[in-house]
Amino acid sequence: MQCPKCNSDMEKVSFAAYELDRCTACKGLWFDMLQHEDLKKISGSETIDIGDPEEGKKYNEKLTVMCPKCHIPMVKMVDHNQPHIWYETCHTCFGVFFDAGEFRDYKEDSMLDYFKDLFAKERK
Ligand SMILES: [Zn+2]
Ligand SMILES: [Zn+2]
Repeated sequence: MQCPKCNSDMEKVSFAAYELDRCTACKGLWFDMLQHEDLKKISGSETIDIGDPEEGKKYNEKLTVMCPKCHIPMVKMVDHNQPHIWYETCHTCFGVFFDAGEFRDYKEDSMLDYFKDLFAKERK
């Protein structure tokens, strides 16, 4: 599979029971349908996101991103909890692409929310 952002080869990376693709050049991550949601819940999964977030930011600005599986344009999405995270999704195969550093960022939010919920409960 070719990286939808920089056209370099992507390599298979496995974590727990999941297998995803990571770009060998820009280190962006490709998740098949809902894999990113599942992996977000697993502790240690942020280790798959090895890229430099500064490098990822450059690729964030790319406007037209084609799905590496379906070869149709992907749609830009904003995470509703963290609007600074832009990712691309394909409306046909529901695959998702995160630039380097974005998955790590996406995952940190769930930890913060977890603590926020914890304190909210204590105050009651
Ligand atoms: Zn790439
Ligand atoms: Zn697709």
